[in-house]
Amino acid sequence: MKTKQKIIIAGPCAAESEDQVIKCALELKKRNIKIMRASLWKPRTKPGFEGVGLEGLPWIAKATKMGITMATEILFPEQVDQILEGVVKNKGNPKNLLFWLGSRNQNHKTQKGIANRLHKVSKDIKLMIKNQPWRDEAHWLGIVDHVTSTGLELNRIILCHRGFSNGWSANPLGLRNIPDWEMAMEVKAKSSLPMIIDPSHIGGTVENVFLITKESKQHNFDGLMVEVHPTPKKAKTDAKQQLTVNQLDKLLKIV
Ligand code: PEP
Ligand code: MN
Repeated sequence: MKTKQKIIIAGPCAAESEDQVIKCALELKKRNIKIMRASLWKPRTKPGFEGVGLEGLPWIAKATKMGITMATEILFPEQVDQILEGVVKNKGNPKNLLFWLGSRNQNHKTQKGIANRLHKVSKDIKLMIKNQPWRDEAHWLGIVDHVTSTGLELNRIILCHRGFSNGWSANPLGLRNIPDWEMAMEVKAKSSLPMIIDPSHIGGTVENVFLITKESKQHNFDGLMVEVHPTPKKAKTDAKQQLTVNQLDKLLKIV
C-alpha cells in the first residue's frame, strides 16, 4: 500500500529580515521541503515584537518565486488581500501561499471574515486552523463549522494541533502546551480533515520538540509544522524552541 506523503512545514516563528527569510528558504529547498512558515504578524502575550507586517511582503514574494509555499498567520480579513496584493506587486507567485488561523484568534466573526475573503479572492490557497488555547473539542470543531459556512471548500482546510494551555494535567517535562492526542484524533475523524502537529508550540524547548515529535508518531498525524531559524539564538520570538538546520535534519529522520 502506498503511504500518503506527510505535510512538512518548517521555518522561523516570525519573518525578521530578507536575509533570514531567503537563507531559510534556500535551506528548505536543499532538503526538498516545499512549505515554509514565517509570520508577518505575531499575536503576543505581552507587548513586544509584533512582527514586521507589510514590510516583509517583498521577502515573502521572493521566496514564493523560488517555488516555496509561504505560510503565515492571518489576524484580520483585510490581511488576506494585503498579502495577495503585495505578492503580486512584488512579482511573486500568489499560488504559493498558505494562511493559518492562530490559536488566539477566537472571534468567530474574524474567523469567518478571513475564510470568506480567502474563498472570494483565491481558488488555491489553503487555510490551516490551529486549535484554540483551551481544551474543548466542541469549540475546535466549531471553528471548522464557522470557516466552512463561508463556502470555503473542505479540500482547502488543514488542522493543526498545538496543544492546550495547562491547568488540567501534570507537566513533568515543562511543556509549553499539553497535547491531547485522543482529542486531536477525534477531531480529525469527525471533520475528515488532515491533522498535523506543531511540536514547537507544544514543546517550548528544542529537547521537547524532539520528544513530542517522537510521541506523536504513535498517532495518525498527517505531518508537522516546526520552527527552524538560521540563527535561533538571535530570534526575536520563541528563541528557545526554534531548531537550527542541523537539528532539523535530525528531526526529519524521525518524522
Ligand atoms: C505560531 O504558530 O506562530 C503561533 C503563534 O502559535 P499558536 O497560535 O499556536 O500559539
Ligand atoms: Mn512561535
